[in-house]
Amino acid sequence: IKSDPIKLHDEKDLTIGAIINIEDITQRKRLEKIRSDFVANVTHELKTPLTSISGFVETLKGNENIDIAVRNRFLNIIDMETDRLRNLIDDILTLSFIENNENKKGESFTMVNVWDVYKEVFDMISPFAQKKSIQISERFENKEITILSNPDYIKQLLLNLIDNAVKYTPEEGNVIVTVEEDEQHIHIKVKDSGIGIPQKDIPRIFERFYRVEKARSRRIGGTGLGLAIVKHIVLSLNGKIHVESKVNEGSEFIIDIEKPQ
Ligand code: ADP
Repeated sequence: IKSDPIKLHDEKDLTIGAIINIEDITQRKRLEKIRSDFVANVTHELKTPLTSISGFVETLKGNENIDIAVRNRFLNIIDMETDRLRNLIDDILTLSFIENNENKKGESFTMVNVWDVYKEVFDMISPFAQKKSIQISERFENKEITILSNPDYIKQLLLNLIDNAVKYTPEEGNVIVTVEEDEQHIHIKVKDSGIGIPQKDIPRIFERFYRVEKARSRRIGGTGLGLAIVKHIVLSLNGKIHVESKVNEGSEFIIDIEKPQ
């Protein structure tokens, strides 16, 4: 009940009814829960690397004669955990930027050439793909396809999907990026020959910090926010995203973006 009931009286001052203002708060409660879960998760994800960093720093400070090999191993861990913190903060800021701009209906959007952005992303990811002998190939219907967007959105979208495709594909595998258009839509597909995603996890992978097999995904690296960022970008572009996947065969992420009419 949103406010106190207002009683209705007749001319003899007898109560003949009341107005009760009721609001359905299930949706609001659900959003509040998502928000507080997110804060709890962020706190946990930030504290874990921090605890590890300060632990190793303390150990190094307390042991001046520590063996050089051990010292280097500790410094490497500190380095990796610092990177993890930095990536996490970057992803949290990106997500919050996209969410805050979602209802501004593309005020700062320009026409973005997908091929140009893809080349940039390819150059960033190919060293990692080469290390695993993974071949990334592209099938562009034409190189003039443009999307009305913030340029950073298309870059982030391709980066997150192709990076995942490489991360979750074993050595010697392949990744194919397809970009096509029809009258009303632009289609972007990222397909890999990787480990696949179990059917039961597919509905949840776009949630913040959700990971299939938490331990393995964390070891592989990543913040657990990549697909949440992709989902919000696609929503901002009036698009849809879905996944087709088979365990041990591979996954395909398919995006359809409506062209402005
Ligand atoms: P992460 O930083 O853990 O990669 P994401 O939000 O990008 O987080 O992805 C969420 C989870 O979805 C991953 O932890 C992984 O379990 C699964 N996933 C994402 N992309 C793929 C893929 N191409 N193949 C297999 N699993 C994937």
